Amino acid sequence: MELSFVDEEDIYAIAEGLMKALFKATLDIDLETPFPRMAYDEAMERFGCDKPDIRFGLELISLTEIVRNCSFKVFRTVVEKGGLVKSINAKGCATFSRKNLDDLTEFVAPFGAKGLAWVKVKAEGEWQSPIAKFFTEEERADMSAALGAEEGDLLFFVADQPAIVHQSLAELRLELARRLNMVESDTFQFLWITEFPLVEYDHERKRHTAVHHPFTAPYEEDVHLLDSEPGKVRSRAYDLVLNGNEIGGGSLRIHQKDLQNKVFTALGISDEEAADKFDFLLRALEHGAPPHAGIAFGLDRLMMILTGRESIRDVIAFPKTQKAACLLTEAPASVNRKQLTELYLRPDWEES
Ligand code: AMP
Repeated sequence: MELSFVDEEDIYAIAEGLMKALFKATLDIDLETPFPRMAYDEAMERFGCDKPDIRFGLELISLTEIVRNCSFKVFRTVVEKGGLVKSINAKGCATFSRKNLDDLTEFVAPFGAKGLAWVKVKAEGEWQSPIAKFFTEEERADMSAALGAEEGDLLFFVADQPAIVHQSLAELRLELARRLNMVESDTFQFLWITEFPLVEYDHERKRHTAVHHPFTAPYEEDVHLLDSEPGKVRSRAYDLVLNGNEIGGGSLRIHQKDLQNKVFTALGISDEEAADKFDFLLRALEHGAPPHAGIAFGLDRLMMILTGRESIRDVIAFPKTQKAACLLTEAPASVNRKQLTELYLRPDWEES
């Protein structure tokens, strides 16, 4: 949908109305609206991802300040380098076996975690853990308090740069919920994620790039940060999340030429490049474009959830395989030289 003379509230109301009608018509479920909302920063802080499944707890708790001066070198070094130490309290899971713990350590490794420290909480709050000896009694008490730890709980810790900590623990959280059957399959928990960052730093290209797209409107009160601290500018973009799946997303667009030019500058797009690539847009804005906003839904993901499936492949008519092959048309097929010539491609193999 693309709409003129609207803001976020109009988009939210229309999208919620659509979901309400859809769930009533297909599953005879009465959804409660308005859906809850959560700012991106809060989602990352509490769940480590921007599409949290909020049907269960297992939230991420920051212990960075508590362990700043501890004698566990791994944690201390990470904090010194500007990283984070975060933890999840798996309530009542102190019965996990050594093998369970090794499995979970292996589970988080692909997300960059260099280890998965754990603590089993025993009677009177005593810690059973290979790392217990590195902490003072006060540090252990502060961590236990922050985590609401009680006898029988299992605490998991990851220390690293924020992106790794968040991804590892966000995935661990989902895995624990699966193992512990914490997710009721026929509940539908919607959530709007708002206030995404406008730009992110691309380390390879050594410049800021748009998180959503270069035409996304920033919050007016953040515009003054565009030159000095572009990473702190929040965008008026939103995602609709359902049970941990992003099922829709959109934004308010910039409709003023000056502001559009400012954002281009923050993205390292020169005046010449802007004129070359986006002249049509800048001219259109100059003529007076209305404030406008939109949202697009991921219909296949929505279908997957409505039909209780695990994969969008189950709801796509002719899904491709993992290797991107089409079983129906048997694509990709071989090409002949004439087709390549049409595309100005010159292969270095001999025609057989
Ligand atoms: P080590 O001192 O290497 O024997 O590690 C002791 C415990 O800390 C093991 O359970 C490791 O899995 C864990 N560990 C090592 N590095 C990290 C890290 N970056 N974050 C969390 N736990 C870690």
